[in-house]
Amino acid sequence: MSLLHTALENKKTAVVLGHMNPDGDCVGSCLAVYNYLKDCFPQVEVTVYLDQPAEKYAYLNGFYEIRTEMPENPEADLCICLDSGDRDRLGDFLGFLDQAGESLCVDHHITNTGYGDKNVVDADASSTCEVLYDLMEEEGISKETAECLYTGIIHDTGVFQYSNTSIKTMEIAGKLMAKGVDFSTIISDSFYRKTYVQKQILGRALLESILFCDGKCIFSVLRKKDMEFYGVTSKDMGGIVEQLRTTDGVECAIFLYEKTPQEFKVSLRSNKQVDVSRVASYFGGGGHVRAAGCTMNGSIHDVVNNLSKQIVKQLGE
Ligand code: AMP
Ligand code: MN
Ligand code: MN
Repeated sequence: MSLLHTALENKKTAVVLGHMNPDGDCVGSCLAVYNYLKDCFPQVEVTVYLDQPAEKYAYLNGFYEIRTEMPENPEADLCICLDSGDRDRLGDFLGFLDQAGESLCVDHHITNTGYGDKNVVDADASSTCEVLYDLMEEEGISKETAECLYTGIIHDTGVFQYSNTSIKTMEIAGKLMAKGVDFSTIISDSFYRKTYVQKQILGRALLESILFCDGKCIFSVLRKKDMEFYGVTSKDMGGIVEQLRTTDGVECAIFLYEKTPQEFKVSLRSNKQVDVSRVASYFGGGGHVRAAGCTMNGSIHDVVNNLSKQIVKQLGE
C-alpha cells in the first residue's frame, strides 16, 4: 500500500494544501488528490484550501469547491501538503499543519525540508503530480483525476520541454492519455493561451530586458506602477522568465516583479550550468536546479547585484 493510502486509514477528515500563488502543478496536484479521495475514499471528508487560483484552471473538476479563506478553527485528521518545499510556502493555511492529527507531504523540490510527519519527496520527478501518480492505484484514477495530473505535469515540464522530463514522465503522460484526457485543449488553453494584457506585459518585459555578464545573464523587471497601468497581478506573470531563458547565448535568466515598494518576487531559470536552487536558497527561497524563486528586498539595482554575485560565482566554477 502506498503512503497516501496508509495515511488515509481511519481518517474522517482531510485537508489538502498547496503553495501560495498556486501554479499548474499545485492546482493540479491538489485537485487530483481531491478527486481521487472523493472516488476512492468516500468516507473521508476532503477540502482543498488554496489562494484563489487562476481562472484558466476552472476546467479541472472541483475547482469551484476550492476554499480560499482560512477557517477560524483549522482542524483535520490528516493534512496533505503538496508541491511546497517548506512550511512557509503554505502561506495563510499553515495553521492546518500544526493542528492536524497527522500530516503527509508530497513534493518534488530538491530544497524540501521534510516538514511533514510523513514525506514523499522525489527531486528527480518532473512534478508533484508525477510523484502522486505512483501513490495512486491505477484503477482508482478517473478521467477527472487524470486531467488534474496531466495539467500538473505539462505545466512543470513546459509541455515536456524542460530537462526534468524523463522517460517515466512520458510513460505516465501516456497512461493519463489512455484515461481519455483532452490533451490538446488542456495544453493549448491552460499553458499557451494568454490574455491580451498578459501578452502586452510579456512584450514589455522582453523589450526592457537587459543582458549582462557577456550575454550569459539576462534580467527584466516589472514595477508595481506598470502592473497597475496594465491591470495585471502576480497570476499574469507566468511564462515571462521562460521567454528570457530561451534568449540565444543566455545561461541564466532573472525576472522580478514588485510586490510592495522595495520588495520583489524573484524568478530564476538556467539552461545547463547554474544551479539556481542554490542561489534562491541563499536568499531564503528554494526550488529546483533549473527553476527556482525567492523574495528579496531593496532597490532593483541591489537585488540584481546581489543575485548576480551568486550567479557569477557559479559561472566561474
Ligand atoms: P517561479 O519562478 O515562481 O515559477 O518558481 C520556480 C520554482 O521555485 C517553483 O518550483 C517554486 O515552487 C519555487 N519557488 C518559487 N519561489 C519560492 C520561494 N519564495 N521559496 C521557495 N521556493 C520557491
Ligand atoms: Mn509549484
Ligand atoms: Mn511543482
